[in-house]
Amino acid sequence: MASQEIETLAAALSRLPGLGPRSARRAVLWLIKRRETALVQLLDALGQVQASLVECQVCGNIDTSDPCGVCTDPRRDQRSLCVVEEVADLWALDRARLFTGKYHVLGGRLSALDGVRPEDLAIDRLLARVEAGGIDEVVLAMNATLEGQTTAHYLAERLEKFPLRITQLAHGLPVGGELDYLDEGTLAQAIRARRPVS
Ligand SMILES: [Zn+2]
Repeated sequence: MASQEIETLAAALSRLPGLGPRSARRAVLWLIKRRETALVQLLDALGQVQASLVECQVCGNIDTSDPCGVCTDPRRDQRSLCVVEEVADLWALDRARLFTGKYHVLGGRLSALDGVRPEDLAIDRLLARVEAGGIDEVVLAMNATLEGQTTAHYLAERLEKFPLRITQLAHGLPVGGELDYLDEGTLAQAIRARRPVS
């Protein structure tokens, strides 16, 4: 029977995405064995996060300043806005350095199953940004899931009244993907998104 302190920590860790009660308890034991090294580092990093990270009130990014570094970067294209579901998606796209505009994080996706409605996402804030003007293109970079695509359709409808180019990410063949191994959904998307050979 573990002590109350260990149980409390394991319970807190088990709420993290991808960690069940078993792996949480294992992580606690691992940390206790390394209390002078890994545990100190973890405490320090958690303290830093708690003290310095804030949500950007413009785009929803997490950064050490509000507005965030992306929003205040003058080299970015002010006229192009990429809408993503989660902060992790923003970071993934930005790591690839392929998109040079700004971002807008919705904070999730519409889901009848999970009871996520438009008012639960940062959609009003997105419309306000577009309404303020200066944006020519909105890229809907939702996940290629049913809920992601439902969200993209909903946003496209809400944005229709603005003088904008509305685009969305292409879905199809992954790099290095062989046709024979792909699922039918991916193949169907690739056929639908076919383009002229240049
Ligand atoms: Zn921002």
